[in-house]
Amino acid sequence: MHAETNHPNIQPLLPLDALLQKAAEHKGCGTSSEGGKASCGSSGGPDNMTPEVWEKVKNHPCYSEEAHHHYARMHVAVAPACNIQCNYCNRKYDCANESRPGVVSEKLTPEQAAKKVLAVASTIPQMTVLGIAGPGDPLANPDKTFKTFELIAKTAPDIKLCLSTNGLALPDHVDTIQSFNVDHVTITINMVDPEVGQHIYPWIYYQKKRWTGIDAARILTERQMQGLEMLTARGILCKVNSVMIPGINDRHLVEVNRAVKSRGAFLHNIMPLISAPEHGTVFGLNGQRGPTAQELKALQDACEGEMNMMRHCRQCRADAVGLLGEDRSAEFTTEKIDQMEVVYDATTRREYQQVVEQERQATVAAKKAEQEQLSQLADAEGISMLIAVATKGHGKVNEHFGHATEFQIYEVNAKGAKFVGHRRVDLYCQGGYGEEDSLVTVIRAINDCHAVFVAKIGGCPKDDLKKAGIDPVDKYAHQYIEQSAIAYFMDYVGKVRAGEITHQSRGDADIRQGAYIAA
Ligand code: SF4
Repeated sequence: MHAETNHPNIQPLLPLDALLQKAAEHKGCGTSSEGGKASCGSSGGPDNMTPEVWEKVKNHPCYSEEAHHHYARMHVAVAPACNIQCNYCNRKYDCANESRPGVVSEKLTPEQAAKKVLAVASTIPQMTVLGIAGPGDPLANPDKTFKTFELIAKTAPDIKLCLSTNGLALPDHVDTIQSFNVDHVTITINMVDPEVGQHIYPWIYYQKKRWTGIDAARILTERQMQGLEMLTARGILCKVNSVMIPGINDRHLVEVNRAVKSRGAFLHNIMPLISAPEHGTVFGLNGQRGPTAQELKALQDACEGEMNMMRHCRQCRADAVGLLGEDRSAEFTTEKIDQMEVVYDATTRREYQQVVEQERQATVAAKKAEQEQLSQLADAEGISMLIAVATKGHGKVNEHFGHATEFQIYEVNAKGAKFVGHRRVDLYCQGGYGEEDSLVTVIRAINDCHAVFVAKIGGCPKDDLKKAGIDPVDKYAHQYIEQSAIAYFMDYVGKVRAGEITHQSRGDADIRQGAYIAA
């Protein structure tokens, strides 16, 4: 049985239509702290935000969807303690193949963390952001967190500093955050109603006392809203993360969206609950399910107004390193770093960023040209489709089907192509051999897509994909994703109009839970 019926205090589910209507009533972003212009959204570019905001987001892979194709981030796990308990979190869990917040393989001192940042920055010139995201709460470990920022600001001043907090201690540290030039803060806000919150948070620790139930949730939400207001008043960009928990806060997240938008949040990131019994979390053990791919997308779409949704979050580990969607943390263990020669080369890093800017402009130009063609298609009979893409980054179709550990999902219709999410999968191809079981899970993960774009694909998976109704397409290998998606769409509409094919909508898809079978 799904958990929708398990919580008598939660209001009955609204139908999606009502949800959409409610969401439509509260368009408007409050991000007016920089230059007075409401400029929101991870998919925006320099044309639709102030220069100050663009400067902050242009090479931040989490705050800019475009940037996430080019720039990497790293987390350092210097904050072990936490001041609240969430029913979806278990910080004792560690699995090298698992990607989930709160999971780490190695905890670091601030000095070890600073050394690791330099080692990564000298090896990966596209690493532009250092975040502290746990495994506990950075602000429940303020000395370690701010010491780490202090060391990095001295040795690698071009790296953006970022932190991610549950918000309970946030109001006490806003001035310190500002003094360290941290201009990106993420707050995890799963509710603004304590009635809902009591089912997510069994306790909090506040003012030397443990609080439970509704009291705990009330204190938490008040502190989160206060902290958010204080940050945005200072011009610090705030992203709000919310975990979508079906039957508990899924419908309520529309209210959360409204509340954070009105307080100036820059971006809202609604993520699926990751919940499996082997994680040892309360939700994992009591069978609480996560949302399906289409449930998540419907909620994100419903909340998307002038404040865009972040849809490219990978729910990273607290010690993640690399581009979003890849994890190179195993290359940078303390033992390996001790043996590395670290040369921090600011010039190479700057040059790399210039090349990326040129690439970004080329991608935008390619998309624009294709978009002009698309405008001739009128409404394309209301056709809309999802396309899964195997990519290693740089905005191109450049990954082999068998090597993909995730697929990026683009929605295409007469308005254009838009990134709407990603799906983690097990590697189909291990050591050159196809694994039938993992192919089944890949198909389930992209089952709502009409096509999958790949740089290359073998004969067997191709046939199975076709049988499942998903068109395997390799003719756009190494071309820009959005341009290719629009070209495919126009071709598809042409075939529908000629009566060669009939357009049918696809079903739902799975969001992967649990650790990878192979990584
Ligand atoms: S968890 Fe999401 S927001 Fe944080 S670094 Fe990963 S992608 Fe960015």
